[in-house]
Amino acid sequence: MLSSAILETLRIYVPEDAIHLQEPMAAHTTFRVGGPADCLIEMENADQLQKVQRYLYQIEYPFTVVGNGSNLLVSDKGYQGIVLQIGSRMNHISVEGNVIVAQAGATMAQVAAAAWKHSLTGLEFASGIPGTVGGGVVMNAGAYGGELAQVVTHVQVLNRDSEFWNLDNDTMEFGYRKSTIRRQPFIVTEVTFELTPGDPQAIRGKMEELAVKRREKQPLEFPSAGSTFKRPEGYFAGELIMNAGMRGFQVGGARVSDKHCGFVVNMGNATAADIIDVIWEIEERVKERFGVKLEPEVVFLGEF
Ligand SMILES: Cc1cc2nc3c(=O)[nH]c(=O)nc-3n(C[C@H](O)[C@H](O)[C@H](O)COP(=O)(O)OP(=O)(O)OC[C@H]3O[C@@H](n4cnc5c(N)ncnc54)[C@H](O)[C@@H]3O)c2cc1C
Repeated sequence: MLSSAILETLRIYVPEDAIHLQEPMAAHTTFRVGGPADCLIEMENADQLQKVQRYLYQIEYPFTVVGNGSNLLVSDKGYQGIVLQIGSRMNHISVEGNVIVAQAGATMAQVAAAAWKHSLTGLEFASGIPGTVGGGVVMNAGAYGGELAQVVTHVQVLNRDSEFWNLDNDTMEFGYRKSTIRRQPFIVTEVTFELTPGDPQAIRGKMEELAVKRREKQPLEFPSAGSTFKRPEGYFAGELIMNAGMRGFQVGGARVSDKHCGFVVNMGNATAADIIDVIWEIEERVKERFGVKLEPEVVFLGEF
């Protein structure tokens, strides 16, 4: 529970209307599930973030960072700590020549649109990924042959000592759906991209083509967190799940999508417990049937 003394101090750093007590995380995740966080704060800039982070470390209060919650499964019991949300209040984008600098809360769609408007190619693949660039670099988000590692040159982070560091592409240690940030307590505050001049019509065309592919292949009509599992070496998770006979497998309101077995979807009334049960059952059956260990791509928050 957040004491009134802590709350008073937080109010020195952030405006009252950015602080939400007992905030249901279902409202902040694309799965649309998750119980309340002690408190969610909508961050506005790096300076504010630095002050709040330093204070929370000082008082040893648990906290975590979220972007758009599009790769996140939050427990029904919620999160006993403070959620620092880096989203729509921290989404400034600037473009100079081939270089785009975006605050971590800008969405990948917004940055891809800015690139298109400035006739810059390289980010079309990211236009349909529903996360922020902060969450994107943490996960090295990618699709259709592209991934952020190909276009990100620098990532500004706040480190454990509340100092700003500027990590270059090599230091980020990007890999398949991972980066050094998944292993370290860094908060991404800003991302720099370097793109290539291109033809705006071709860029727009590519973005539309990929959007059509997504609509055709993915169950976008239901809440989800995208692909639930990472692609195992040499296989496709969706295919393994389908071949294990799990298309349409359902627990409560959580279901293996009939359209794309790689997606666990919320049929409307799922709980996080339903979703985790489906995930565990998939892992077990795929392991048993094919000897392949599926690893969730989705990040878990809270007690399961
Ligand atoms: C319909 C759908 C389709 C999808 N398609 C794709 C796809 O094609 N390719 C793909 O890669 N992903 C896809 N995803 C998954 C998701 O959009 C990506 O993983 C995205 O990068 C997550 O960004 P986010 O801002 O939502 O992060 P969140 O889900 O909010 O957080 C994910 C992780 O990043 C951390 N994090 C977030 N922001 C920061 C920050 N500023 N600093 C430090 N840590 C941070 C969080 O603590 C958490 O551990 C899809 C999801 C959905 C719902």
